[in-house]
Amino acid sequence: MCTTLFKNNSCEVPEFSTYCDEGGFAMSETDATMPVNSIWLCYPGNKNIGGNPLYHEMAHLLQQIIFESTSDHQFYQTLPDLVDQAYERQIVSRYFPAGEVWAVAVEGYMMDGGVDYKSSYSSLQMIKNEHPEMYDLTTRYFPTSPADYWQF
Ligand SMILES: [Zn+2]
Repeated sequence: MCTTLFKNNSCEVPEFSTYCDEGGFAMSETDATMPVNSIWLCYPGNKNIGGNPLYHEMAHLLQQIIFESTSDHQFYQTLPDLVDQAYERQIVSRYFPAGEVWAVAVEGYMMDGGVDYKSSYSSLQMIKNEHPEMYDLTTRYFPTSPADYWQF
């Protein structure tokens, strides 16, 4: 996996000069690079609120490449019910795209920043308490200990 950071939009990256996206996007089987907006990331001196495109796109990448190529049936059998639960429990808005729920949950799980940081799936503990089924799926692929990432 190759991650390329940009500051304004993805057209700054030579490989994606004709496709401009402000946040970034996941690579697919035909791409070698995953472009991500560096301004939207949290690191010392750059506290960004609302999301993390690196973890978000990494979740899409896992789904689009790893889970697809390994035919991860458990993931694909489980995810639709989890998306329905996210809507029913009002963890995400009814209008939130179904294909984004997993990526947003992974973002919140990995960042573990709390409600001041993110409005949905705000922390590892929130996911464990309010959407334990999503916690179970997420911990199938990610460690249960908090990530060593920038803390507020
Ligand atoms: Zn997404």
